[in-house]
Amino acid sequence: MSYTQPIPLLDLKAQYAPIREECRAAFDRVADAQYFIGGPEVEGLEKEVAAYSQCPFAIGVTSGTDALLVALMTIGVKPGDEIITTPYTFFATGGCIHRLGAVPVFVDIDPASYNIDPALIEAAITPKTRAIMPVHLYGQMADMDPIMAIAARHNLYVIEDAAQAIGSEYRGRRAGSIGHFGCFSFFPSKNLGGFGDGGMITANDPALAHRAKLLRNHGAEPKYYHKLVGGNFRLDALQAAILRIKLRYLDGWTAGRQRNAATYRRLFAQAGIADIVLPTEAPERRHIYNQFIIRTTRRDAVMARLKEHKIGHEIYYPVPLHLQECFADLGYKPGSLPHSEQAALQTLALPIYPELTEEMQAAIVSAIAEAYA
Ligand SMILES: *Cc1c(COP(=O)(O)O)cnc(C)c1O
Repeated sequence: MSYTQPIPLLDLKAQYAPIREECRAAFDRVADAQYFIGGPEVEGLEKEVAAYSQCPFAIGVTSGTDALLVALMTIGVKPGDEIITTPYTFFATGGCIHRLGAVPVFVDIDPASYNIDPALIEAAITPKTRAIMPVHLYGQMADMDPIMAIAARHNLYVIEDAAQAIGSEYRGRRAGSIGHFGCFSFFPSKNLGGFGDGGMITANDPALAHRAKLLRNHGAEPKYYHKLVGGNFRLDALQAAILRIKLRYLDGWTAGRQRNAATYRRLFAQAGIADIVLPTEAPERRHIYNQFIIRTTRRDAVMARLKEHKIGHEIYYPVPLHLQECFADLGYKPGSLPHSEQAALQTLALPIYPELTEEMQAAIVSAIAEAYA
């Protein structure tokens, strides 16, 4: 007996069904209030995400990308500044640095966690370095203590790209609460996803939080008096209302993802495929499994089997940022950052969403096993 239905990489309809009525009531609440930009829903979400992320301040913005951009604008990043980050991430991390005329300086990853390797950061620091931007990839936090120590020694800002890591923990501290800023995304495929784009900046320092808040709305304070040149980076009330509902379910969904990760570990161990490397959980972490990433030297064969069985999968990310065409001027070459390049060639994301059943997971593992038969 085997599972024969298609299995998507993510099933948002399954997530929506049990919360449908609550969401529809929230739509009505916003529609009846006719208060669409900012206002009580956005302020409510900001308070709730701040509390959830153990941060004093949170500022709702248009997207995770804009959260990163506004954080960089807040610290006054200017042309020629250098920002240290990882090349093994979604494009937005490096793109925002470049958009402000600054230079992304890419530092290779630790191949076990896929996060920036703190041991390589100090060698990349120059007098132009302004900030370090670690990414908590796939839902597991980067090694923040050494990163914060390096930043303190060199007087640098730390901007956490926590787009994939809401609720993730490092030594008991939540994503977004350790650096000067945390940047979150509510893109639908993130663990807390809206009905469109949205994002949030968390901050510990009141002056930085205030500046970010001004930049979100054209730098005005009061209205029509512009201290700074910002932009329209405002979150809308409809997204906030939906996200407030979903936030109440987030810990339950995270537990489901963690349970599914444990099930994969058991099923892969039973299948005994020595070539497959499963995700590692570093000590003292709460991994929230935005993605479940395997590594295989036979990725094409594995993908062919998954495709044949209509099982969703994705390569995150096939080209590390230092080898992207748009960054050719930065002068990196294949071989510059070998761990990131190797990861780009070997990693594959499998379905991990909370509503996935053990029967589906067994079908996924058995399809992968076929590639090794
Ligand atoms: C999703 C993501 C972003 C961008 O978020 P958007 O809301 O899509 O703009 C930035 N960084 C990382 C690591 C992401 O995964």
